[in-house]
Amino acid sequence: MKKILLLLFFPILSFSQSIDYLFYEKGEIYFSFLYKNKIHLNMISDIVSIDHKTNSDLAYAYANKNEFLKFLALEIEYKIIIKKPINYINNSKNNWNYYPTYQQYTNMMQAFADSFPNICKLHHLGTLSSGREILIVQISNNVGVKENKPSFLYTSSMHGDELAGYILSLRLIDHILNGYANILKLTELVDNIDIWINPLANPDGAYYGGNQDVWSATRYNANWIDLNRNYPDPQDGPHPDGNAYQNETNIFMGLADTVNFTISANMHGGAEVCNYPWDTWSNLAADDNWWEYVSHEYADSCQTNSGNGYFNYLNDGITNGNDWYEVDGGRQDYMNYFKYCREFTLELSDEKIPNPNDLPDLWDANYPSLINYMKQTLYGLRGIVTDSITGNPLKVKVEILSHDIDSSHVYSNLPIGNYHRHLYQGNYNITFSKNGYYPKTINASILSKNTTIEDVKLVPFSTTQVEEIYLLNNTNITSDILGRSSNKKSKVQLIKTKNGIITKQIKIQ
Ligand SMILES: [Zn+2]
Repeated sequence: MKKILLLLFFPILSFSQSIDYLFYEKGEIYFSFLYKNKIHLNMISDIVSIDHKTNSDLAYAYANKNEFLKFLALEIEYKIIIKKPINYINNSKNNWNYYPTYQQYTNMMQAFADSFPNICKLHHLGTLSSGREILIVQISNNVGVKENKPSFLYTSSMHGDELAGYILSLRLIDHILNGYANILKLTELVDNIDIWINPLANPDGAYYGGNQDVWSATRYNANWIDLNRNYPDPQDGPHPDGNAYQNETNIFMGLADTVNFTISANMHGGAEVCNYPWDTWSNLAADDNWWEYVSHEYADSCQTNSGNGYFNYLNDGITNGNDWYEVDGGRQDYMNYFKYCREFTLELSDEKIPNPNDLPDLWDANYPSLINYMKQTLYGLRGIVTDSITGNPLKVKVEILSHDIDSSHVYSNLPIGNYHRHLYQGNYNITFSKNGYYPKTINASILSKNTTIEDVKLVPFSTTQVEEIYLLNNTNITSDILGRSSNKKSKVQLIKTKNGIITKQIKIQ
């Protein structure tokens, strides 16, 4: 069954009251328009939400009423697209060829944790005012215990009507949990990676028509805000869309503050392509060659595991985000710039809500790629950074001078002190630095699909000061074998340096 789109042609409307009826049923509308060039499109993308279906001729976009009024002021001819509600009929619901009801979804998430308590935890990240929840499962051996492992995140459907990734994420959770201790490749993932999977980031959008089905799903959330324009932006700063951070946005920013994700992917739909940073500006990412490499790896494997013509949009299934169309306030750029996490955007299907009978084929095409991308978390440069004297783990900046740009450095994280830097193969000089410590630069060679481990000890300034004071005072100290002072009095002073480090100084009087 094919989804039918009705195209209605409208003349340019200039009276705001005449558009009210467009928003009578839903707070968002979908429309298309011809644009002049990239600059023109980027200007319009500041006003409305450009959609993934946009191609080199025709732009597709969503807008709420305020956004649409601003668009109308541009006097660009447009066509409203009315989506006829779809209602696929499944004769049998098996092999993941259906969209669950909201209740089935939450039950499924709970059942994952209940069935595999040793390797799976369910986290309730937050409840929206509708009562619907943002749920995420964490999968790892010793789940919940901080270890020297990279943390990886899959999240899907922040655009509520882009639902291929919703089902693929659920099936991926099921596949990994059932494969653990049975399939070596999956066992290795669970043993070595702290895996987080959130199948549904915008439940109010997906179940706009009610909890029974997803056929009336909306892109925006319940406040008619595009969640993928609602994040702080590297170029435009906080609130690039002029709206308050939505509950969904705050929930995911809180998650990224709590778990230091190394790599993540954000699943969308409407096209079949890997979209890598940046979206907000045309600057190339410092590790652009790594992005092209992992994006091609994803797309190539999808093409190999599917029929002709899947996942080959734009540059053979990959694109630089800004080359396609500009997005301000997107989550991908937020994660890369502010959270030092490598996140790309997966556009999984031309049909935003694929016919459920096509979902098993989409799984076959994508799951090897989904696994490979997770495995990338284990490659590149990694290690643990500690204080050379105390051995305590440290949070330090890990930077490649004359290479890093636009916040492409990373940090080691507490409580373990582990860092993970993903790099295209080559030779790099990496500098580890922290206030109060002497910086250290090491040289490392990186090979694709290989891991280079470099544990680093940083020497604190304060230790040096204490050592120097001790040597200076050493000749003056007269004490017996038990350390008791004899004829001279000594005094211990605690001195706070400008770095805020407390050092112990012994004074002889
Ligand atoms: Zn999307």
